[in-house]
Amino acid sequence: MSEFRGLIMDFPLTLHHFLERAGKYFPKKEIVTRTRTGVHRYTYGDYYRRVHQLAHALKKIGVEPGDRVGTLAWNTYRHLEIYFAAPCYGAVLHTLNLRLPLDQLTYIINHAEDKVVFVDASLLQLLERIKDHLHSVRLFVVMNDVGEYQTSLSPVVDYEDLLASVPQEPYPWPELSEWAAAGMCYTSGTTGNPKGVVYSHRAIFLHSFAVAMAGGIGVNERDVVLPIVPMFHANAWGLPFAAVMVGAKIVNPGPFLQPRDLCQLIQDERVTMTGAVPTIWIGIYNLLKQEKFDLSSLRLVVVGGSAMPRQLIEAFEKEYGIYFLHAWGMTETTPLGTMAIPKSYMDGWPDEQRYEVRAKQGIPAVGVEIRAVDAEGKEIPWDGKTMGELQVRGPWVTSGYYNDPRTAEAFMDGWFKTGDVVTIDPEGYIQIVDRVKDLVKSGGEWISSVDLENAIMVHPKVLEAAVIAAPHPKWQERPLAVVVPKPEYKDSITKEEIIEFLAGRFAKWWLPDDVVFVEEIPKTSVGKFDKKVLRDRFKDYTLPTAV
Ligand code: AMP
Repeated sequence: MSEFRGLIMDFPLTLHHFLERAGKYFPKKEIVTRTRTGVHRYTYGDYYRRVHQLAHALKKIGVEPGDRVGTLAWNTYRHLEIYFAAPCYGAVLHTLNLRLPLDQLTYIINHAEDKVVFVDASLLQLLERIKDHLHSVRLFVVMNDVGEYQTSLSPVVDYEDLLASVPQEPYPWPELSEWAAAGMCYTSGTTGNPKGVVYSHRAIFLHSFAVAMAGGIGVNERDVVLPIVPMFHANAWGLPFAAVMVGAKIVNPGPFLQPRDLCQLIQDERVTMTGAVPTIWIGIYNLLKQEKFDLSSLRLVVVGGSAMPRQLIEAFEKEYGIYFLHAWGMTETTPLGTMAIPKSYMDGWPDEQRYEVRAKQGIPAVGVEIRAVDAEGKEIPWDGKTMGELQVRGPWVTSGYYNDPRTAEAFMDGWFKTGDVVTIDPEGYIQIVDRVKDLVKSGGEWISSVDLENAIMVHPKVLEAAVIAAPHPKWQERPLAVVVPKPEYKDSITKEEIIEFLAGRFAKWWLPDDVVFVEEIPKTSVGKFDKKVLRDRFKDYTLPTAV
């Protein structure tokens, strides 16, 4: 075999290739950003020059290879400049989630040891409030998106002043290994402190190919790409990298994320593909019921982050001709994992069945492998019923959290344990049924809290419902339903009618042992039910069947 070794070039899969290609072949293509003063437009040619200047600037301010460069910013052209300048320079782009509680933001900056932080002027106050607790930051670079600003941060430099002070010629990029860290992002969905995920150049490079692959998201040069999902949330699902790779026009929404702003931008810029969580689409759907926008340019919407309701996928398509691709992913998977792409022979299936497939989380992207295992670690059958924990592996899946002992419990035989519980149907499509920590484990059998609460929320007297595990002496855990009645039924709703409502749909042993009525379900900062708080509240609750 040895004589065959080395007969193909050892060409590192680094982001330089994307940037240089974009600058060389697509200099006329546009990058558009919505700003407080209107719309900022420039070309990839301008973009390319500024990314090179920014690399000179990183050198000037003392950033060393491997240093973490934090960004606290909306989706803008400047943020996109750092997206490429930092990794191509050899530093690590660390996107900071501006919606995190301040103690977590402090933890993340300190844990990653960010050396400089690039911050939008409109977000300065977040850093001002925690500045005394930041141990590693030597300089704040302010990106002025407000007109006039003042700050108590120190030392600071203005982004544009910095760029104006450096040489105009191209920066001589260092030769980097494809395994070099290009970016990092901390997970938001954890209990305890966030965990750091590090992306290599190679991971992002290969992930971008998956995002550009036909038959899936298929980002291509003809697209006008609008990343609504924030650039601080799992790399805006990889859209900025993939868009630059193919030379697509990019439209950045800045801080303007209300349904009306987004519809206007899609209409004005003739956006062809975009990505955002279901909440955004629920808002847009409601707006479209009242106001008219021309969204006919959209060829595809990627939706994920939480489950997209089937009814909404169907309604958008039938009423507005907008096609949704439901995808699943995590910060730990760069993030694309699976996509609900129907197979060609499903075209002839009845609507009911086709939309059922489209509302699942799908089959893995090329490059990603998945399996699901039961409590004993045995792979579950593809029967669409048995539940198991989803595990993944692939070239853009994390192999360990950054400096974090919690890495040890996150893997099994080289597979990353996602913490998501799924079923897999005979066609190979996964459906997320719960998070492992939210499952009710009754006598060793699993009950999906999500299935139960979704069913309860269909009851006409119910506004919201969450199902949690309550301690039980015999079965260890049993389901407890926590229900918010619609105000008009506050005094007339009963536990019995809820149980009866579920009885026809679920096996008897799935039915909640009790139903308690409350005024509100606690929510997390991103609006999901906060089951941790609920579990805490009901940790000493005695179920009626347990006495
Ligand atoms: P994050 O790392 O913040 O992107 O969160 C990842 C988690 O979001 C996953 O582990 C899932 O629990 C959830 N998630 C992502 N996409 C979907 C989806 N399409 N349907 C249901 N849950 C999802």
